[in-house]
Amino acid sequence: MIIVMSRPVLPENLDRVVTVVTARGLETHVSEGKEVVIVGLVGDVRQVDRQALSRLPGVDRVVRVIQPFKLASRTCQPQGSVITVGGSGSTPVEVGGNKLAVIAGPCSVEGSEMLFETAAAVRDSGAGALRGGAFKPRTSPYSFQGLAEEGLHLLAAARERTGLPVVTEVPSPEKVELVARYADVLQVGARNMQNYALLQEVGKSDLPVLLKRSMSASIEEWLMAAEYILASGNHRVILCERGIRTFETMTRNTLDLSAVAVAKKLSHLPVVVDPSHGTGYVEYVAPMALAAVAAGADGLLLEVHPRPAEALCDGGQSLCPGDFALLMDQVRAVAGVLGREA
Ligand code: PEP
Ligand code: MN
Repeated sequence: MIIVMSRPVLPENLDRVVTVVTARGLETHVSEGKEVVIVGLVGDVRQVDRQALSRLPGVDRVVRVIQPFKLASRTCQPQGSVITVGGSGSTPVEVGGNKLAVIAGPCSVEGSEMLFETAAAVRDSGAGALRGGAFKPRTSPYSFQGLAEEGLHLLAAARERTGLPVVTEVPSPEKVELVARYADVLQVGARNMQNYALLQEVGKSDLPVLLKRSMSASIEEWLMAAEYILASGNHRVILCERGIRTFETMTRNTLDLSAVAVAKKLSHLPVVVDPSHGTGYVEYVAPMALAAVAAGADGLLLEVHPRPAEALCDGGQSLCPGDFALLMDQVRAVAGVLGREA
């Protein structure tokens, strides 16, 4: 962090800046330029309030020079993280390696028959893990809220039948222990991305966490949310881009594929993309899934329903098993061009 003071700089103002900074346990490095004096802060600046410092007399601005996230950053770990999902009672799958991880299944667990049918179909087409919400924190309190613990039972039964590890959402800190008894990956939903109590709780779990980007979060805020989980001790975080809110109304969200490239540059954590919520319409899911692979995503999160027209949640954006199989062929082709597998 550096403090910029425009000339003329009164000696008492410079002294005050140095005194305030050193009182916080930091050292200073002053360089005198022709037009400005720059005070460099040396030490752990993470607890320093930039806005407060900028109010000191004579201070022009306070500029951050390093990223605020540390454990999530490539500076901390230059090589990409490869996270193994499942393995006890399921076939393990790697996220972040050369092979893309495809996580597919219904938006919500609606019953045994549809879940088992979907799980078998996505496994046969090459999915590595099963998704499905047992807890559905919906925008409206009157919408279907999921089967709760019964849904978790069914997911575990689907894992037993197919060998697919299970990815499912945990809606609140109190539910982490319950969901962790059944799941292989704890999903933090977009609406919960800045629920810090939840981030800290999943951070204490020994299961990997799939962290969705909030529809209104910057990439930095998303990485800071990941930092909460990492700082709580859980180093297995998978980032998931699922679209952000923009002025566009032709799609449910705007899938921010540039976020994939940016997150991959700044962070060692694997990034998967959810084009189902990212677009909201089934006809846009395949093109954006392929674009996500081309953009460097480490995997996909896709909603698949055996009869989308009868779905209790997100039927409009769910692929039917046949379309999922076709998409998987195309995903393998695009991955192949990039020297990856799917
Ligand atoms: C989901 O993937 O089930 C879901 C609810 O997505 P999001 O949190 O991204 O809205
Ligand atoms: Mn959904």
